[in-house]
Parts: sequence; C-alpha cells; structure tokens
Amino acid sequence: MAAGDRRDRGALTAARLACERFGLDGATTPLPGELDRNFALDGHVLKLHAPGTDSRLLDLQDAALEHLAARCDAVALPRLLRTRDGAARVTSPEGSVRVLSWVAGTPLAVIGEPGAETLASLGRAVAHVDRGLASFEHAALDRPLRWNMLSAAELVSDATAGDARAVLERFAAHVAPRLCALPGQAIHNDANEHNVLIGDDGRVRGLIDFGDLCRAPRICGLAVACAYAMARLIVPERQVLPVVAGYHEVAPLAPRELALLPELIRARLAMSIAMAACQRREQPDNEYLLVSQDGVTAVLGRLGALPREVEHLRLRTACGYEAVPTARAVRAFLQTADVGPVCGPSLEHAPIVDCSRADRLAPGVEPAIGRYLEDRRVYDSDAFETGLPGERRTLHLGVDVFLPAGEPILAPLDGVVRDVAWRPALRDWGGVVVLDHETLGGIRFHTLYGHLDRASTARWACGDRVGRGDVVGRVGTEAENGGWVPHLHLQLLTAELGAGCDVHGAGTLAERDVWESVSPDHNLLLGLPGGLRAAPPRDATELRAARRASISRALGLAYAEPLNIVRGEGAHLYDDAGRAYLDLVNNVCHVGHAHPRVVRAAAEQMARINTNTRYLHDLLVTYARRLTATLPDPLGVVFLVNSGSEANDLALRLARAHTGARDVLVLEHAYHGNLSSLIEISPHKFDGPGGAGRTEHVHVCALPHTARDADDIGRHAAAARPAAFIAESLPGVAGQIVLPDGYLRAAYAHARAAGAVCIADEVQVGFGRVGRAFWGFELGDVVPDIVTLGKPIGNGHPLGAVVTTPEIARSFETGMEYFNTFGGNPVSCAAALAVLDVIADERLQAHAARLGGVLLDGLRDLAARHALVTDVRGAGLFLGVELRRPEGEPAAAQAAAVVEHARRRQVLLSVDGPHRNVLKLKPPMVIGDTDAARCLEILDEALSRV
Ligand code: PMP
Repeated sequence: MAAGDRRDRGALTAARLACERFGLDGATTPLPGELDRNFALDGHVLKLHAPGTDSRLLDLQDAALEHLAARCDAVALPRLLRTRDGAARVTSPEGSVRVLSWVAGTPLAVIGEPGAETLASLGRAVAHVDRGLASFEHAALDRPLRWNMLSAAELVSDATAGDARAVLERFAAHVAPRLCALPGQAIHNDANEHNVLIGDDGRVRGLIDFGDLCRAPRICGLAVACAYAMARLIVPERQVLPVVAGYHEVAPLAPRELALLPELIRARLAMSIAMAACQRREQPDNEYLLVSQDGVTAVLGRLGALPREVEHLRLRTACGYEAVPTARAVRAFLQTADVGPVCGPSLEHAPIVDCSRADRLAPGVEPAIGRYLEDRRVYDSDAFETGLPGERRTLHLGVDVFLPAGEPILAPLDGVVRDVAWRPALRDWGGVVVLDHETLGGIRFHTLYGHLDRASTARWACGDRVGRGDVVGRVGTEAENGGWVPHLHLQLLTAELGAGCDVHGAGTLAERDVWESVSPDHNLLLGLPGGLRAAPPRDATELRAARRASISRALGLAYAEPLNIVRGEGAHLYDDAGRAYLDLVNNVCHVGHAHPRVVRAAAEQMARINTNTRYLHDLLVTYARRLTATLPDPLGVVFLVNSGSEANDLALRLARAHTGARDVLVLEHAYHGNLSSLIEISPHKFDGPGGAGRTEHVHVCALPHTARDADDIGRHAAAARPAAFIAESLPGVAGQIVLPDGYLRAAYAHARAAGAVCIADEVQVGFGRVGRAFWGFELGDVVPDIVTLGKPIGNGHPLGAVVTTPEIARSFETGMEYFNTFGGNPVSCAAALAVLDVIADERLQAHAARLGGVLLDGLRDLAARHALVTDVRGAGLFLGVELRRPEGEPAAAQAAAVVEHARRRQVLLSVDGPHRNVLKLKPPMVIGDTDAARCLEILDEALSRV
C-alpha cells in the first residue's frame, strides 16, 4: 500500500473512532506534529499514535494530565477525554487514537518579541505545572529520554558545531554532577515557543505537549523555558529575567538551583543544536524537526561571550537574593577590620562634590569626594552603551577621591597584586592596579585603584605582596589617566567579574542591586562619618520588579498601573513625574499631606529627644489631657500605642481583664486590624480569602437596617459570655454604613446587660471627620466604655490610642506592667498635639460638615442621573456611593472601572464593601470646593463610561 493511502486510512479511522467511541462528530483538520498525527476536531485534538508507539508513554501522559486536572487550575492544560466506556484510548490497525481537549491561545512562536509581563507569566505557568507535578509518580518517568537534561552528556558526539560541543563537554565535566545532586520530580520539560499559548491579555494561559515529560530537577524545565524564550529576545541575558522571577514567585527557587541555571540554559541550547543535527541526519525530509531552531545558535554564541557569573548574579537578584553570595561576609569583615587610610591628607572634612549633573568632573578643591552610586551624566560616550535602547552605564560604582596629581595612594589592607595595567585610552583607567584580599574566613575580595600614573603600573607584577600602608601608586595627570581631572577611583569588589583590570567603574541604573552587591559601600574602607553614598531614585518599573522580589506579595498594590508617589501636599499626591493626584482615599493624612505644623512639631521634638514612657514627659500628659478633653466623661484614662491594630488589641485585653469573660460580639463584615487577635474578630478577614473561619468565642451580629436589629446583639449576647461588643461608629470596610438612629443605644444596652463592655472603633472616622460631631459614636448618642483611635491621630506618624474609664483602667492594674517601647514617645505626642491644634485652628470639623454636605448633594444628583448609583450615604467627609446593576446585583466590575478611570484622570478613589461595589470617599479634611467639584465631575464622567 502507498504511504499516502495508509495516511488517509489513518485519518479516516481516527475520525470514525472519535465519533463512535468518544462521541465527537465533525470535520477533522490536520495539525503539525513531530511523531504523532494530530487533527483538530470539535474543540479537541484527535491524536493518532503510530502502531508500535510505546503504550507506557501514552499511559504516562494520560496519568499526568489527569493528575494535573485536579491540581493545576492556574494554567490551561489539555484534558484527557475518555471514551464513553472510560478507556483512555482505542487501538486500531492504524494506531492508537486518543482525544485531548483543545487549549485555546496563540503560540508564543507567532507573537513578536515578548514583553516582561508575558515572560513573567511564562515562568509562573511552568512553575504552576511543576507544583502540580511534584506529587506525580509513574514508572515511565525514568525511561531513557534524549531530551532529559540529566543525560545531556550523551549528546556530545552528536554536536558537531563548536559552541554546542564545548558547552556539552563542560556540562558533562562540571555541571552534571551538581545537577544530579538536586532532587528530581516529574517536569513538563518542553516549554518551547510552540507549546506555550498566550491569551488575549498577553499572558501565558496554556501549556501543551506532555511528550517529553520526565523525572529531572525542576530547574531543568525552567532552563528549557528560558532557553527558547531567549532565542526570541534582543538582549536575552537581561530580558529573560522575568521568566525566572515569575517562576520563583510561584515555586521559590533555592540558590543552588539558580547557580546551575546559566549552565543549564546553555546546555539546553546545545542539546537542541545537537539533536537537530542528529535528527536531520536520520530524517532529512521532516520539516517539523527544524522548528525551534530559529535563533538558538545565535543565542548560544552570544552567551558564550558573556561571563556566566554575571548571569548568575542577575538571576539571584531577580529572585530577591543578594547578587553575590559572599558579599555579606566581606561587608561584615570590613565593618571591624583594621582599615588604613588610602592617602596622606585626611578625608574626614573633605567636601562631597555633586558630580551627577556635571559634564566634566571638576571638584574645585582637594581633597574632595565623588559619591558612590551617583547617577552621572558624564558617562556619555559609546563605551557606556549597553545594547538596550536608551540605556547607558551611568551609575558610579566606586568612590572618587580628588587629589593632586602625584599624590601617593596607600593600600588600606594587606593584599596581593591581582592585576596591573596601563590603559591610556580616553575615558579608560589610565594606570590601574587591582589587589586581592581575604576575610578572616578566607573569602576573597578585591580593591581597584584607577586613574593612577604610568609609573605606578611599572612597579608591580601580579602576585606581589602589598602591605597595609604601602604606596600602591600615585594619582595620574589628566594626560595619563584617561583624560580625567586628577583623582583616585577606588572600587571595592566582592566578585571576580571580568578578568583582572577589565572591571567596569560604572554600571546600569536598572541593575543597581547587582552592582551594589558587587561593589559595596566604599565607606567600609574610608569610614567617613557623613557617608558617601548617593541614592538615585528607581522608576516605577524597577520598583515593581524589586518589590516583587523582596516584599511579600501578600501586600497589595492599588490600581492596574501602580503609582510611584514621591511627595504630598494638602489633598494632593505627586508622582515621580511630578503629576498631581487629588487624594480622596487617605483619611490618615487628616489635616493634609506633609502639613507644615505637624512636620515641624515632630521634627523639632525628634531633634530634641525621643524616649519612652518610663521617663516623665510633659508632652505625654499634655496630649492625654487634650485628647480626653474631646471625649465625654468618664473616658479619662489614655494608653498610647503605635497603630489602630495595637489599640484594638489592647482594648480587648482591657475588656477581658475587666469582665473576666472572653467572648466578643462583632458586626458582619467588620475589620478591626491586622494582629492575630483582630483577624479573629474581623469577619471581613476570617470569612474572606485565606481566612480560617470564625472561632468559637466570636459572635457575628447582623449589620442593622433598623434600630430593632439591635435585638441580634441581645440574642448573641444571651448565648455567650461576652467581654466586649466592638463596632465602628460608621462601619467602613462593610461599605461606608451609617448605622440607623437608635441602633447603637439599643445595641450598647443589650451588650451591657450581658456584662460586656462597649468598644467604639474610631480608627477610621474620628477627629471631626463626620462633621456634625468630633467622634463618630456621638452620632449614635452613646458613650462607649473604651474608644480606640488610629489613622488620623498622627497625620501619618504611626500612632494609636485607647481611651477608657478609670474603672476599666483599674481592672488592668493586675501587677503586670504594660510597657510599649514606642507608644507614647514624645515625638508621637508632639505630632498628635499638632494634629489637634490644626483641626481646631483651621476649623476643619466645620469644614468637613459643610463640604461633606456639598459632596453629598452632588452625589445625590449623580444618583438621579446614573442608574448604576443605587445609594449615597455617609456623614461629613466619610461618604459611600453604592453601585448596583439593574437586576440589583452588586456592580463590582463597574466600581473597579470607575476607580481606574478616575486614577487615569488623576483622582484617587477606592472601593469597599463585602461585594466591593461601594466607592469610598474619605479624603484629607483639607480638600477645597474646587477639589469637591472635580471629584463630582470625574465621577460623573466615569459613571457615564462604565
Ligand atoms: N480598625 C479599623 C476600623 C480600621 O479600618 C483599621 C485599618 N484599616 C484598623 C482598625 C487597624 O489599624 P492599623 O492598620 O493602623 O493597625
């Protein structure tokens, strides 16, 4: 039979079996494939495996897909479709037929150069699959497989091209033994650009083709993904980093895995080249074998010219590890080492010269210092280009000591000459000497002395010993030091990057974390009391990457495009580009961002003394008296703490000490703080994502619609031994709720009848915000037993307070001291006093009442014109706008869209409420009438668009 007939017979059989056994009907369309014949059919992939295909391999893939189906929902993967009677495949004379679900998406291969977010999502996708596969076991995982990197050394003889062969030989000798020491697991092992599928949002959504599934260290699978991604990138060694960072985000990588990655990426590229050569020899007609070869050879060639060590440092940094693993030990050694001076003249009073804007380094006086980590315009020649568009090496990595030409330079430590060179080209080092040193623990580091004269380089040979205090060389003249004004460039190096003197004295700003580890603060050598480091700001992109690596992702960021806020004034925030944003969110900077009176009060006190409450201090008692003067009797005893959470935690302790009971009555959806004790009493948290549910001693009472709903407090109180009833005076997280008239009075009565004390959480709403009263509870016509304060109390200075009755305070005097290191310190008290002064002197409470009224009227007008707005509520400058769809469902997506639209229009809003459909307005109390008008205008605009 002719081959074509057999192929058609195969297609027909596959289609027939798909219909009869799998229940799939319709036209089949052939798809490319390396070994199998694949067809698209009705949202599925119909696979015809040639007769003789090892059934164990198909079993392996089927088992893995079914294993992942239950464990990996973050990535779209093929699902195995079983026959009507439960079989995984059907055998026929033409081969075995299997059906997998179709995974939608555009192959990475057909999109242009992928961006950082696409690449990060690739890393995350591979990691999710690896996590899912970690618990997968199957006998066929350990089958011989040429694509398994553990056996890459076997391909040496197939690699004819020079680069590939050299890489594989190195792999066999140096890498394989270290790789084998890492634990293995099932890995997908083939995230090449044809198997990676991108969704409409530009992120990886799916991964297909489990044919190379095998057991290997998981870092091998990541190396595969990196290797093929790099073949599509212009500066692959830099641009690939998000893939690794993305993987690390989902499945944290250990340093010993990262250390192998540069080698493994090269090995995988070399394997690809070797395999392609070998397969081309075996099957010269199979075009599919040529895919994935694009760019592979070129990347391998490029990587061959780069030091692996720098890649390793970049990878470590991308994952939040310090770039140079030994840098910490070097810094620790230098902290206490006996370091000598680098020159005769004392540098102690040498001025620091700002060289950042200069076109030419010109200190004016000598000696003078040019700063470490300064971003300098002067590095403008081609020598400072990096290959990435618009990027130059502008970050000064050493310290400059401006001295007259001829001045002797001394070795600050014993050392050995590592290298010495004469490099007279313009902008180069001139005379340069590098010394090796060792910490007491035997860790090597280096010091570099650049811009010396020529004679300095003639006096040394590599390996010469240099004693502390010996003359290393002399400062060169402009004619012989590379064309610079006479100075020493001193650079500490914790890693051997580049051979000998081939060290960069300036690095890229974007990679400052790498370079700062390689060349740590030179004040470890110079010991100048004023320091010598500059601090060039990071841009938003850099900040996001650095934040991802070093800050827990449990901390959220606001807005799809997060803001880099660098300054504030009044009700406005300013980003790094100087753009102003109207802040309608921040009820912490109550009297306005950076209010000069508060800033001055805190700064002046900070400059005088900051201590703790074990000393007498006027400000502590003055503040306590001023605060209690705003509160009704008998609320007269004050505890100062550091946050709203601390205040609520202490309030619980007081309540429990006073009542001897433990239970707590709380309102639905409430949030009272981030401490363990408060997560336990915050339904918003314990019933929300990641929450552990309600604990027995907590009783959740209904959010009221009428005063009668206070009966729910009575019901719960009767079934418990409550120590406390805690409620916000206007529940905020629950959706800016105004409690019904009479509710708090009735609720307090029920709680007190059951022996509980009543805690008013005023963290959000206190200090005049509600306009008609200074405290929110006053609107409810009650006097709490304990009041907790936070947010606005220090206008951004971290501070909180608990105020209670003398009687409850007495119950807390059990013999156990209450000491709070920072609580009540004089600086906090000074800030808090200034806040009270400003509220009074600027008549902010009256302002909140009036402007709140203006806003409320304007919002009601919006409600009349936009059906989406179903309720408008609040008091003073604490307002909520509830959005619901015509059918009454909470309009969370629309609320989020309004917030994003407003952000684009430079107005900052937030959402809250259990359904996240309530827009919150709680601006600094100093917003003006034009700000209010702008708020309404932008809301109107946003509501018209969503
Ligand atoms: N109580 C309420 C009502 C709050 O809104 C918050 C903070 N959002 C807290 C307590 C906790 O305050 P902090 O974050 O200062 O600990």
